Amino acid sequence: MPSDSNTPIAELKRQVLAMCRRKGWGDENGVQNPQHVAMAMTVEMSELLEHFQWLDPADVDRLLSGGDPARVALIAEEFADVMMYGLQLADALHIDVTEQILRKIDIVDRRMPKPNEPKR
Ligand SMILES: [Mg+2]
Repeated sequence: MPSDSNTPIAELKRQVLAMCRRKGWGDENGVQNPQHVAMAMTVEMSELLEHFQWLDPADVDRLLSGGDPARVALIAEEFADVMMYGLQLADALHIDVTEQILRKIDIVDRRMPKPNEPKR
């Protein structure tokens, strides 16, 4: 079964583009207007946030301990929507997801040293 441990990001990009082509979205390759994709991504992010609205600390503890699988399933669905638009944005703008995430990790590591740790 496909999972994070055995599926390259390129394969996810390919499958999202194939879905767009099947649905007739975007150009002949399934690439959508990145402006529209970025806006849609924000809408999906709001849908994701709705599942966290007004949670009290006990609710968060239940989420973290696996005590609310129904809510986690709803969160996972919205997370997938956000990520699918992210992959579409990456495709439209020829962004290499791995390269950019590793680059940002390096930037954050350099910019935000731990307390009492010298800056790299
Ligand atoms: Mg959604």
